[in-house]
Amino acid sequence: MRDIPHFIGGRAVAGASGRFGDVFDPNTGRAQARVPLANAAELDAAVENARVAQKAWAAVNPQRRARVMFEFKRLLEVHMDELAALLSSEHGKVVADSRGDIQRGLEVIEFACGIPHLMKGDFTSGAGPGIDVFSSREPLGVVAGITPFNFPAMIPMWMFGPAIAAGNAFILKPSERDPSVPLRLAELMIEAGLPPGVLNVVHGDKVAVDAILDHPAVKAVSFVGSSDIARAVYARAAAGGKRCQAMGGAKNHGVVLPDADFDQAVADIVGAAYGSAGERCMALPVVVAVGEDTADILRSKLVTAIEGLRIGVSTDPDAHYGPVVSAAHKARIEGYIQMGVDEGAELVVDGRGFTLQGSEGGFFVGPTLFDRVTPAMQTYQDEIFGPVLQIVRAQSFAEAVSLPTRHAYGNGVAIFTRDGDAAREFAAEVEVGMVGINVPIPVPVAYHSFGGWKRSGFGDLNQYGMDGVRFYTRQKIVTQRWPKRVADGEVADQSFVIPTMR
Ligand code: NAD
Repeated sequence: MRDIPHFIGGRAVAGASGRFGDVFDPNTGRAQARVPLANAAELDAAVENARVAQKAWAAVNPQRRARVMFEFKRLLEVHMDELAALLSSEHGKVVADSRGDIQRGLEVIEFACGIPHLMKGDFTSGAGPGIDVFSSREPLGVVAGITPFNFPAMIPMWMFGPAIAAGNAFILKPSERDPSVPLRLAELMIEAGLPPGVLNVVHGDKVAVDAILDHPAVKAVSFVGSSDIARAVYARAAAGGKRCQAMGGAKNHGVVLPDADFDQAVADIVGAAYGSAGERCMALPVVVAVGEDTADILRSKLVTAIEGLRIGVSTDPDAHYGPVVSAAHKARIEGYIQMGVDEGAELVVDGRGFTLQGSEGGFFVGPTLFDRVTPAMQTYQDEIFGPVLQIVRAQSFAEAVSLPTRHAYGNGVAIFTRDGDAAREFAAEVEVGMVGINVPIPVPVAYHSFGGWKRSGFGDLNQYGMDGVRFYTRQKIVTQRWPKRVADGEVADQSFVIPTMR
């Protein structure tokens, strides 16, 4: 079986810890490669490479750093098909979704191409007699990113794009479940002209993550993954004095008001709930129908739409979604479906026991629909992260606003309505970080920022956009005074007295 290497100092390095994880093809259920799980010594070696490389990289002027990003973007386009096929073969999402995964990362790289402008500081001339004040943004040094399995191209690029453009060196610890695309991205960065050591990929599990969190030379850690781990990572990084942003899980609601365009809403909700087998942090696994009539109409249209879904291998161009990532995850999702039944929710469509002819070993789960789900149910409170959609019936607009507001997660939310006033009130009141109005997956564009509230995000700066630039830089503010030269016999202007200024 193929062994996947680390990528340290600009070259492939075999794992030395003796520990490995299996990388599966979710379409067949068979292991296809082994990924090494790094120990602290291997992480140290990567950080040392990064530390040395960073000094020279930070001294490269920002316009030249931007040129590397421009070239990387071009290479992503050239290699799009190859990357998408590789991504689908380890993740299981259909190729069209893999292309979207790469494209959304590419857009953050495009944003990072503007780094000369984005890092410019402020200047105040004449803040006092002979006094100017100016600020500059400087890279932090060595920074790290720890990423989840579900977007193995986009999320690494959310992180290393702005970080490297800003002059940092980067340690990427991708998900051990689909590590090949992150590795390939690092190779393409070198091909684009990045000096060796500026971007290193170290594979691993908790051992590697803890080594990153405890390493004194790592100045900032960006994490995306499930909430309990996000919270633990945030706490450990902060205890070590590091800057940290840690994005967690989600349970996004789609609220449908009685005046919505139901056909449009159902098409959007089905795509958002079942696309990528529900393995998106911005999936819509909960529909809140306002009023019994709305719920009844939605339910019947959802059942019809679900009947039209095609589940297939990730290379099937007509498939709406493919397998989930692992056998354990499939079992977990099916366990939640049983829990929903036991809790008293009405199981309208049961996706358990789904097998695909010719791919019987694949990790497939059929689309599942529950009705009459209530906030007290565990299956409502937890993130299931599979193709399971739950209808919650609300009796009023106020109740519909309060459901996502009271939920422990606060990543994304959507409302479907033709009433601008109601939509505006909803957006203002709801306690969730990203809101869509007739937009089912409100992932902000690359020049805004991405981040959830409550259990969905720990730390105060979001991913990408200006927040990304702020996260990977620190400001220096210089107050300079050049007193006016005075002729012999004249009295110098002594009027500048800190902290008051006349
Ligand atoms: P995960 O939490 O299992 O893993 C995320 C990363 O943490 C991986 O690199 C993994 O190797 C590492 N890790 C695993 N166990 C660890 C431990 N005990 N200590 C330290 N590190 C550990 O998440 P996943 O299953 O890969 O991804 C799915 C989750 O990510 C879902 O909860 C999803 O909602 C969330 N997610 C959130 C966002 C967001 O932006 N909010 C985006 C994508 C995914």
